[in-house]
Amino acid sequence: MSELDRLMEDLGSLKSIAKGWKTRNKRSLAKLRGSKDLDRIANTAHSEVFATIDCMDCANCCKTTGPLFRSQDINQLAHYF
Ligand code: SF4
Repeated sequence: MSELDRLMEDLGSLKSIAKGWKTRNKRSLAKLRGSKDLDRIANTAHSEVFATIDCMDCANCCKTTGPLFRSQDINQLAHYF
């Protein structure tokens, strides 16, 4: 079982690890702020991370975050009914 598999089984541990990285992440984000290369860096990081993580296996966002409908979204959706 890979480290990622173990983390995915215990999202509580993942949350704890993320809290431990908070300072490091804050520093990294501060360095990126204002970078002209931010889009490329973010796109590369996204590709690297999601090459190993499958949101369909995790689905934590779906479990913890509800859908957000703005008035504009409701009006657009209403046209289909
Ligand atoms: S579902 Fe959400 S929390 Fe899970 S890997 Fe995807 S983006 Fe991350």
